[in-house]
Parts: sequence; structure tokens; C-alpha cells
Amino acid sequence: MTETRTCYDSVKIYQKDIGDVFISHKDRLIKVRDIAADISAEIENLSVFIQKHTPVVCPDCSRVCCINRHSYPAYDDVLYLYARGEIIPRYTAGLDDYAPCQFLGHMGCSIPRVLRPYRCNWYFCTPLLHHIVEHNSSRHYRFFINLLEQITGKRQRMMEEYAAVVKNIEFGCTDQT
Ligand code: SF4
Ligand code: SF4
Repeated sequence: MTETRTCYDSVKIYQKDIGDVFISHKDRLIKVRDIAADISAEIENLSVFIQKHTPVVCPDCSRVCCINRHSYPAYDDVLYLYARGEIIPRYTAGLDDYAPCQFLGHMGCSIPRVLRPYRCNWYFCTPLLHHIVEHNSSRHYRFFINLLEQITGKRQRMMEEYAAVVKNIEFGCTDQT
């Protein structure tokens, strides 16, 4: 009988996979950690920008975007969290993927933006996007887009760097540069 793997199961598998590498090869992961720190700084900047808009737009929302399915970290998110020395949020097993997100409280998401899954930080509903466009100069809007691009680019570099480290480990290479 084939069992379907849930999002929750996947997170557990990613944690084990990446956690083992971080436990046994921490010294090889300095560049990965440095890039993750850069990503954090960019997300903090993004947060300052977005928080000027969400308190205006979100309280009247009738179609809250946050459901459980979106809250699970992807492989890259788990890597990022390990690289930042952060703990993966505790997920409750067996929840309905389409029910309101388990981290959604009266004050919005209880996970700090810098630790949320990438998809959560990348999602902009139409009302939020309109508000951003209408209340920012072209220069500020470009700054916002640039931040998103920076985060995506650095995340890609982090993954490439990590893949190179893992490849070296698999080939038994001792080079740690
Ligand atoms: S981001 Fe958009 S969909 Fe999500 S709560 Fe705010 S207004 Fe609603
Ligand atoms: S932003 Fe927070 S509350 Fe919304 S889906 Fe992501 S983790 Fe859940």
C-alpha cells in the first residue's frame, strides 16, 4: 500500500536530512550561514516596508490568505532556518491543510517575518499590492522590488553553496574552502 506523504511529513524529512549535515559538517557551512545572515537582513528591510501597509489593508480582509498548507517550510526554508541557528516552529500533525493557518492569531502571523516560509513573504494579494503601488513613489517601489529580487537571488546562492558542500561530502572531499 502506498502512503501519501503530507506536508508535515516532508518537513520532518527535511529536518533530518539537513540537520545531519549541520551536526557533522558545521565547519564547511560558513558561507551558507553568511548568505543566510544576508537574507535575514534583507527580510528585515522588507518587513519595515511591508508593515507600513498591512495594518491598513489586512484588518478589513474578508479572505485571509493564510491556510495551514502555506505554513510548512520548503527544503530551502529549512536550510535557511538551520543556517540561522533557528528552531523550526513546532507543527501540529494531522491538521486540515486548507483550514486557517495554525500560526495565525488575532495580531496576524505569530512567526516573525524573518523566520516565515519564503512563500509567505512573497505572497502579495491584490489589495495589498494596490496599496503598495498607490502609496509609494516609483523610487520606493523599485526599492521594494529590488529587495524581493535580492532575497530570491541570495536564497538561490545559499542553495547552490549548500549543494556544493553536500556534493563534496558525498565524494569524501576534504577541501573545506
Ligand atoms: S495579505 Fe491580503 S489576503 Fe492576506 S490578510 Fe492581508 S489583505 Fe488579506
Ligand atoms: S504568514 Fe504565517 S500565518 Fe500566514 S500562512 Fe505563513 S506561517 Fe501561516
